[in-house]
Amino acid sequence: MNVYFDNAATTAVAPEVTDAMIPVLRESYGNPSSSHSVGRKTRVIIEQSRRSIAKLLNCHQSCIYFTSGGTEADNLALRGAVRDLGCERIITSEAEHSAVIKTAQSLQRSHGIQLDLVRHLEDGMVDVNHLEILLSKGPKTIVSLMHANNEVAVLQDLHRIGSLCRAAGALFHSDTVQTMCHYRFDLEELPVDFIACSAHKFHGPKGIGFLYIRKGIQLGGQIEGGSQERSVRGGTESTHNIVGLASAFEIAHHELDSHENHIRSLKKRMVRGLKDLFLDVRFNGHSDNDDRLYTVLNVSFPPHPKSGMALFLLDLEGVACSGGSACSSGATLGSHVLRSLKFHDPERASLRFSFSRYNSEDEVDLALGAIERVFS
Ligand code: PLP
Repeated sequence: MNVYFDNAATTAVAPEVTDAMIPVLRESYGNPSSSHSVGRKTRVIIEQSRRSIAKLLNCHQSCIYFTSGGTEADNLALRGAVRDLGCERIITSEAEHSAVIKTAQSLQRSHGIQLDLVRHLEDGMVDVNHLEILLSKGPKTIVSLMHANNEVAVLQDLHRIGSLCRAAGALFHSDTVQTMCHYRFDLEELPVDFIACSAHKFHGPKGIGFLYIRKGIQLGGQIEGGSQERSVRGGTESTHNIVGLASAFEIAHHELDSHENHIRSLKKRMVRGLKDLFLDVRFNGHSDNDDRLYTVLNVSFPPHPKSGMALFLLDLEGVACSGGSACSSGATLGSHVLRSLKFHDPERASLRFSFSRYNSEDEVDLALGAIERVFS
């Protein structure tokens, strides 16, 4: 039996989601921009999907802009803020996903914007005092700080950060790719201007997501072409993927509490099992704490001769987990997140186990058995 504990990288598509997508692929082939009835029917399907997502986020449907996923959504927010909204500075952090940090660095090179990196506290939380100091002076700014870190599960306080940004007149973007559909968002009251979503992190299809853009903010086109997505993103909409996204979004929200309880109990079992196996096991980012992202556990194993091979050996045992970022499972490169948050220890293997509603207690026990054999 294979155990899939790499759900922060991507998740299995839910059967209900596939069931919702197949009729769209088979029957709703019209171009949503066509004026005939075949096209108009597809347009209706897309706008229904947008409405259903917006309702669950308590925002207006016109605030949802479909993209190819989280990376594009992050790019759209940061590039749009610099190009269309006059931002001359980005404040972000070294622990961000590369979709944010590399985009910010690229804008620094191409547009000469100022790039300020906010410090973290020892536990991985953003140093909000430092953020406040950075915000107290400087040019027009967009702050980009993720909700939950995809590697070490540190969960930032979006209310607090967003309120500081508001008070300072800065825009606030948050990469919510790892928390969307695992936590509820009320965008009427959350002080954010942009948040990003990627369907494949919650049992939806790959290649689809969206950027939420607060009402009243107008971005220019990131992908030039037709006037789809109100001219922000040209190109014929991926109707079946949009339907898959909306379906996964609805299922996740309707069952959010029971999924959360189930996943939390699996994570607790894993933590208990690891503590039974090793005297000196540690959890990077305090990822075993209840106030961290409940889907992710980043384990720092005691020094062992097989540390460097652990990911590979676990794979041979049928356990899929990750050693690097969500997008580079199996990568042997060290993690920029662990290094920047000073959790990196060359003597110890750090592995990320990330859980979904499809995992079971038996799988946790199987993984623990495999870990015991690898580190024996
Ligand atoms: N942001 C975070 C925090 C992620 O974990 C990921 C995916 O690993 C992304 C962005 C990129 O999302 P996508 O794969 O949809 O481009």
